[in-house]
Amino acid sequence: MTDRQRPAPSGAILHGIGGIAGLFFLTLGLGFMALPDVLAAVFSIAPGFGSGVSGVRGDLGGLFLGMSFFCWLGMARGRSRWLAVPLVFLVLIIAGRLIGLALGETSPSLTRSLTIEAVLVVLLIAALVLAARKSRGREKNFKMTEFLNATTLVFALVVIAALAAIQLSQKKIGMVLVERIARKIMTADSMAGLPDGLHVALCGSGAPLNDPRRAQPCVAVIVGTRLYVIDTGPGSMRKFELMRLNPGQVRGVLLTHFHSDHIGDLGELLLKHWVGGSTQAPLEVFGPPGVEKVVQGFNLAYALDSGYRVLHHGPEVAPPSGAGGAARPFSFAPGQDHTVIIDEDGLTVTAFLVDHGPVKPAVGYRFDYKGRSVVISGDTSPTPSLRLQAKGADLLVQEALQPVLVQVLRDVAEKSNRPNMAKILSDIQNYHTSPEDAARMAQEAGVRHLLFYHVLPPLPVSMLKAAFLGDAKKIYHGPITLGEDGMLFSLPAGSEKIARKWLL
Ligand SMILES: [Zn+2]
Ligand SMILES: [Zn+2]
Repeated sequence: MTDRQRPAPSGAILHGIGGIAGLFFLTLGLGFMALPDVLAAVFSIAPGFGSGVSGVRGDLGGLFLGMSFFCWLGMARGRSRWLAVPLVFLVLIIAGRLIGLALGETSPSLTRSLTIEAVLVVLLIAALVLAARKSRGREKNFKMTEFLNATTLVFALVVIAALAAIQLSQKKIGMVLVERIARKIMTADSMAGLPDGLHVALCGSGAPLNDPRRAQPCVAVIVGTRLYVIDTGPGSMRKFELMRLNPGQVRGVLLTHFHSDHIGDLGELLLKHWVGGSTQAPLEVFGPPGVEKVVQGFNLAYALDSGYRVLHHGPEVAPPSGAGGAARPFSFAPGQDHTVIIDEDGLTVTAFLVDHGPVKPAVGYRFDYKGRSVVISGDTSPTPSLRLQAKGADLLVQEALQPVLVQVLRDVAEKSNRPNMAKILSDIQNYHTSPEDAARMAQEAGVRHLLFYHVLPPLPVSMLKAAFLGDAKKIYHGPITLGEDGMLFSLPAGSEKIARKWLL
């Protein structure tokens, strides 16, 4: 082989890096083009808005195939400058992620994505620098023929052939995927591996007005190995299971009050607890007086279904004695605004009265376990009992309604000739808490972390976060989190740590 034929070291580097990066982008591009919903799930992208799955396919599939093409071009033509194209896109993508991070937006795959992108940026820069040093300006000026040649044709053929192969193999791919997905769902358990302590998972961070990001109120509290559910708003059981929490493991349900947005999925939880855990006794449902009526109603509504389940699955899977719920009403001694409802194995759960206008009684709950504490406000306007219970709490899970935004919705409803909606949007403002009032209370009570849930109005886009929080960050000096479904806060025993991760 002559010197002329032997590839220069810079050429080898260019081939190597261009090949690795190009193959990576090609895989992603083909994946997003052929299986957009699968790739969206892998990268925790919710294709629920606007153009949906086709948007993911077009935008991300097109972007990654384009980046792959320029890697390919740089590698095949020995022209390092083409690698600058995917490099610019990568830098812009990283910049976008960092802007999001600065605005407090996070996602389960953020760290992984940033790491991969940073590695690719370093590789591409290294290739460009080394190639530029070796070439010493020998690379010729760009000619249009670089695009219109065999390289482009080969790349296009590879893409078309790969897409065709994926389309033709959909049945086989589907069979592989279904087994993997099923294994992941059936073996995953978000409670496994959690350290001893208190853990709070949001299975519903929204309120009655539809929010595409949020089911209605539901908070799962994990205490050691025990699992409790506070409120079961509509849509929350779907989130609960998607978060890999097992209804069969639930030890008790605690209802704050009986507005429909807090009880809608109770029947689903009772049913799934029963058949999921083959329980011999009904699930205990704690609540202020009135809980008997709610539980009785759900038991009655699900009675026929329970009968079918026993007949169909047999009493081993569905023991007749375990169907439904058992109401555990609690009350308050005269002059008292709080009462301990659970006191076992180091866990104390205190129910306390809150002020939710005509909804009486309405309560919040405080969990204390091994020196860690979590308070869940329930629905309430600012009230001294909550401030008292929140004193020194590690985490306050606080309902919040931003009156400025709700007023805008009310005005729009009025102008849109929806008088009932306008009236409701006006009425609800006097029995909830504004983020600013919540911040004031949390600051006075010395709360260590303020987490908003029962978010009103709906916040379908993250740009609304600052408008929702208003001046809360000026008033409360600790960390504030705007809750979203799937968030898990861990408070390990024997530490002061409050860690956050995602279960969705
Ligand atoms: Zn309510
Ligand atoms: Zn509510």
